[in-house]
Amino acid sequence: MPGATHIVSHPLVQHKLTLMRRESTSVNQFRQLLEEISMLLAYEVTRDFPLSTERIKTPVAEMDAPVIEGKKLVIISILRAGDGFLGGMLKIIPSARVGHIGLYRDPKTLMAVEYYYKVPADLTDRDVIIVDPMLATGNSAVAAVDRVKESKPKSIKLMCLLAAPEGVATLHESHPDVPVWTASVDEKLNEKGYIVPGLGDAGDRLFGTK
Ligand code: URA
Repeated sequence: MPGATHIVSHPLVQHKLTLMRRESTSVNQFRQLLEEISMLLAYEVTRDFPLSTERIKTPVAEMDAPVIEGKKLVIISILRAGDGFLGGMLKIIPSARVGHIGLYRDPKTLMAVEYYYKVPADLTDRDVIIVDPMLATGNSAVAAVDRVKESKPKSIKLMCLLAAPEGVATLHESHPDVPVWTASVDEKLNEKGYIVPGLGDAGDRLFGTK
């Protein structure tokens, strides 16, 4: 669905998100919750994947059984917080290929600057899910999608945990063909580029670097 924003309203997702937002949640709990929630979000993001059938033999009979069609999915993590999604996603999509893109936010302009890029060699005919827990200004997401589109994948989706309305608008302005999945679109961005009410710096909370 082009230009769409899908809010995953499942009670388990919403409950876990609340636990993650709490300032008192420890690094250990935050990491565990991000892994759990990434599985639930991935379940929704992959809901429309096309199926074909394969002839198999059960212990009782032969049947045409459904299998996901096409080449292996590629998950591209925006460093560093995107890596917090990988463990959970790979538990439920274990054959997925993984890429990384390193972008830092210029503190003055808030624009994304690329410092690392490594993705599977051939992305043509592959579905890509770009992951970053926070869609804040949208500048990193736009830069990541710009870069990934150079490799001409079959489709690109963006999966995050929290989004700001500004980030969703920026992404959809540049890339209306990239749908977003998120657990919440929060109120706004503050002057420092943080999502409000948000959950703080996702990387710091995930890796305990504050
Ligand atoms: N990145 C974060 O980690 N948190 C925000 O609120 C915005 C960007």
